Amino acid sequence: MKDIIPPPPIIANQFETVRELFQKYVVPSYGRFDLAFARGAGSFLCDVSGKRYLDLGSGIAVCSLGHAHPEITEALIEQSRKMVHISNLYYHEPQGRLAEQIVRLLAPGKVFFANSGGEANEGLFKLARKFGHDEGRFEILTALNSFHGRTLAGIAATGQDKVKRGFEPMVAGFRHVPFNDLEAMRQALSPATVAILIEGVQGEGGITPASPEYLLGLRALCDEKRLLLLMDGVQCGYFRTGRFQSFQRILEGVSGADGFLPDGVSMAKSLGGGFPISAFWVRAPHADLLSPGLHATTFGGTPLACAVAMKVLEVVGRDRLADNARTVGARLKAGLENLARQFPRVLTNVRGLGLMIGFELAEKEAIPAFATGPKTAATQFVDRLHAAGVLTVPAGARVVRLLPPLNLNRAEADEGLAIIERVVRSLA
Ligand SMILES: *Cc1c(COP(=O)(O)O)cnc(C)c1O
Repeated sequence: MKDIIPPPPIIANQFETVRELFQKYVVPSYGRFDLAFARGAGSFLCDVSGKRYLDLGSGIAVCSLGHAHPEITEALIEQSRKMVHISNLYYHEPQGRLAEQIVRLLAPGKVFFANSGGEANEGLFKLARKFGHDEGRFEILTALNSFHGRTLAGIAATGQDKVKRGFEPMVAGFRHVPFNDLEAMRQALSPATVAILIEGVQGEGGITPASPEYLLGLRALCDEKRLLLLMDGVQCGYFRTGRFQSFQRILEGVSGADGFLPDGVSMAKSLGGGFPISAFWVRAPHADLLSPGLHATTFGGTPLACAVAMKVLEVVGRDRLADNARTVGARLKAGLENLARQFPRVLTNVRGLGLMIGFELAEKEAIPAFATGPKTAATQFVDRLHAAGVLTVPAGARVVRLLPPLNLNRAEADEGLAIIERVVRSLA
């Protein structure tokens, strides 16, 4: 925190004041970094002491247009002057229009709106249960290292023990198999299986894309066994990989992939550009399974949330941000790969698509500066980036994620790369 300008003592204390409020009054369920932010603009955030950070995490892939985007602000003001909320007892145009857009971006089907990724996935679980109910099928297979949210069914669906521990017994009907292993999935099927749920690119699990063969194999398997193929696009979706959904990017130019479609796709994080909104899309043949009275949420798809999400979609299209995610993402990835070649003892692997990139660090014990600290290698690396003015997101013990705004420009990407390089060099 050396570049505080100017440094009056009252401002220097502001972080402690904020942290104390949290310590006294906020449930301590998050491991937070020692940073408190006050405002942002575009790809940058300012902390309460005035220090500026390049935000390559965008609030965990949420702020798709960066911070304080003027068109989002305008859309919020304009719609909130008309109506904010009316409930799902009634119709309103913004929800219908947004559903129409999502269907156009995917394929014939229908959309249900909710408020968070976990809640969108809950909708998919209920859809699958309803689909198999009359045959007594209910089981959903998911992948190891997956992440599907922190609701009770979400932690049962998530293929990581750390989210389940302490909350047993788990909601029944979920089992996990290794990711990208079609044979393991086939072996795991039981007469009760009704659906398979995967992320196109595992996010929390450390940025691991599904292979094209895996996606096509799962589709064939689901067709053969009459299972729903469900994709959690909460983190990897919404143009982050260079296409609306990651499977579209992964299957680009792959022979035999024409017409590939999952039966359901959940989305959230980037959808509202920071305003909470989530959704799931369900393919036409199954779109009417959830008939009136079977599923609901008070806040889902408010006029305000949908108007903002429509504005974000408009800006993403007009400013060609999918292409931007592809080109700026490729630049970032190439830069990191270059670093991995130069410093293989620090940076062991780079993975990802578009603006969803993860770099893997060596074992903590192999990096002298990290060996003795109690924190993971990823967290210690992220701490050093904070000191140097860059925000990123750890994934597991050894992966650092870049999930920047979709409108990150080349200069910002280069600034981020230069700072990451400095930190890598300091560890080599
Ligand atoms: C973040 C995330 C979720 C959970 O979303 P919430 O909005 O936190 O409920 C689910 N699935 C994936 C892949 C995610 O990245």
